[in-house]
Amino acid sequence: MKKQPNILFIMADDHASKAISSYDGGINYTPNIDRIANEGMRFNHCYVTNSICTPSRASIITGTYNHVNAVTTLETPINNRIPNVAKHLKTGGYQTAIIGKWHLGEGKSHEPSGFDFWSVLPGQGEYFDPVFIEMGQEIEEKGYVTDIITNKTLKWLKGTDNQKPFFLMCHHKAPHREWEPHPKNRSLFEDDIVIPSTFDDDYKNRARAAAEAKMRIKDDLTYDDLGLVQPEGGSEIGEKSRPFSNKRKIPNPKNVSALCLIDKDTGENFRFNTNKELSHFKYQRYIKRYLRTIQSIDEGVGKLLDFLDENDMSENTLVIYTSDQGFFLGEHGWFDKRFMYEESLQMPFLARFPAEVEAGTVCQEIACNVDFAPTFLDFAELPIPTYMQGVSLRPLLNQLDLENWQKVAYHRYWMHKDPDHNAYSHYGIRTQRYKLIYWYNDGFDLPGTNHGGEDKEWELFDCKKDPLELFNIYMEPEYLEIVSELTLLLEKKMSEIGDDPAHL
Ligand code: CA
Repeated sequence: MKKQPNILFIMADDHASKAISSYDGGINYTPNIDRIANEGMRFNHCYVTNSICTPSRASIITGTYNHVNAVTTLETPINNRIPNVAKHLKTGGYQTAIIGKWHLGEGKSHEPSGFDFWSVLPGQGEYFDPVFIEMGQEIEEKGYVTDIITNKTLKWLKGTDNQKPFFLMCHHKAPHREWEPHPKNRSLFEDDIVIPSTFDDDYKNRARAAAEAKMRIKDDLTYDDLGLVQPEGGSEIGEKSRPFSNKRKIPNPKNVSALCLIDKDTGENFRFNTNKELSHFKYQRYIKRYLRTIQSIDEGVGKLLDFLDENDMSENTLVIYTSDQGFFLGEHGWFDKRFMYEESLQMPFLARFPAEVEAGTVCQEIACNVDFAPTFLDFAELPIPTYMQGVSLRPLLNQLDLENWQKVAYHRYWMHKDPDHNAYSHYGIRTQRYKLIYWYNDGFDLPGTNHGGEDKEWELFDCKKDPLELFNIYMEPEYLEIVSELTLLLEKKMSEIGDDPAHL
C-alpha cells in the first residue's frame, strides 16, 4: 500500500487573502506563506459557509453545514461526541494533534476530541503570556502567542513516530482583533497603506444591513483595538462598544481638534484638524497593526516548512494554509467579517503536495470549507463517511474533473443583530458569476442573536461587472431571468443540504 501522506493544516484567524502577497493584494509581503502557493496551488474561489470563527471551525472539522453540526453561532459550542475528521484519521492510523486556537467550546463535552495531543487557547486566547488548556490541564506560557504556537507545533512534530503519518492542525490566533503585534514588529510599515476605494461607501443601492452594521473603522473601533489611550481626564470618551462593556469606541467628536490620542506603548500624541484626518489615522493604525501580527505568522510558517525540508518530509506532506474566514480591510469602510460580501466570504486557501499538485498553479473553481475534511480523508486513502456534506478537493488539486465540478457555494449567517456588530442574518449562494443574498433578518431566538422585525430583502450582485459589490441589481428588469435561475439554484442547494429556507 502507498504510504499515507502527512497532513499539516495551518489556519489563521481572520486572515484576508488580500493580506497574503501571493494573492496580489499589494499591501504586505508574506514570502513564507507564498512558498506554499509557489510550490503548490492557490485557490481563488474558496468560500466559508458561515463567516464567523466558531461555526467555520465546526464545518472544517466535521465536513458539515452548521444546521447539521448545530454550531450556528459563537454561543453554540460543538458537542465533541459527534464524529469529526481527526477521529477518522486517528482510527485510520494517523497520529493527530491540534495546537493553538480551538474556539469550539471548553470543558469535557466541548474540548478537542479525536486528537492524541491537544494544546489550545481558551476562547479567543491572549496575545501575550497566554494560558493554554493542554490535554485538560491549564498551563501558563510566557511570550508572544504566535511564536508559542509555532514552537509547540515544532516540538510535537519532532516527537512524532516517523513510521506513522500525522495529521496536525496548527491554528494561529492572529490576526484576530485586537491586533497586538510582537514588539519587534511594532514599527513595520512606515509608509501609509493604500486606502480601499470603497472606504467612504455610502451604502446606497444595497440592502439596509450594510448601513446598519456597526463594523466601521470610522465609528466602531475601540481604544484597545488601536493600542490607544486618552490623556487623564479626556472629555471625549466615546460610547461603549456594547451594553455592559467597559470598552469604549474612539469618538468622532464635533470639535476634533480638541481630541488627543496617545499611543499606549510609546506615549506618542496624535492630534487632528479634521474628522477625515482622524478616520484615515484610524485606518492606518488598524491595517498596520493587523499586518504586523501576520508578519509573525509568516515567520512561523517559514519555520515549519524548513523543518519539513530538513527532515526530508516535504515530498510526503500535504501542507495547507487557510483562515477560518476572510476579513474586511477597510472595504466598505469596515473591519470584521460576518457578511457574504466577497472580502469576508472568500477564504485564502493554498495547498502544497509535490507528488500530486503542480507547482505554481491557480484554481478558479468553487471550493468551500465543508470540503476540507473530505479532502484530508481522500489524501489519506480513507473512506469519506456519508454524513459529510462537502466534496474532496483532490480532483481540483490534480486538475481533473473540472467540467462536473460544483457550481455553487452556500453561505448562512445566523447571529442576527449581535450586540457588538449589529450584522443582519442572511443566506445565499455564490456562483462563478453572481451572488444572491436573502436577508431574512431574524435570529429565531438562537443564542447570541436577536429577534428581527425588519423587512426581508434580497440582493443580487454581478461579480464580474461589479466586483466591488456596490449595486444591488435584484430589481433590475434585465436580470429577471437570472434572479429566477439563481433562486432555483439556492432552493436546490438548501434542499440538498437539508437547510430550511425562510423565503418560501
Ligand atoms: Ca475568525
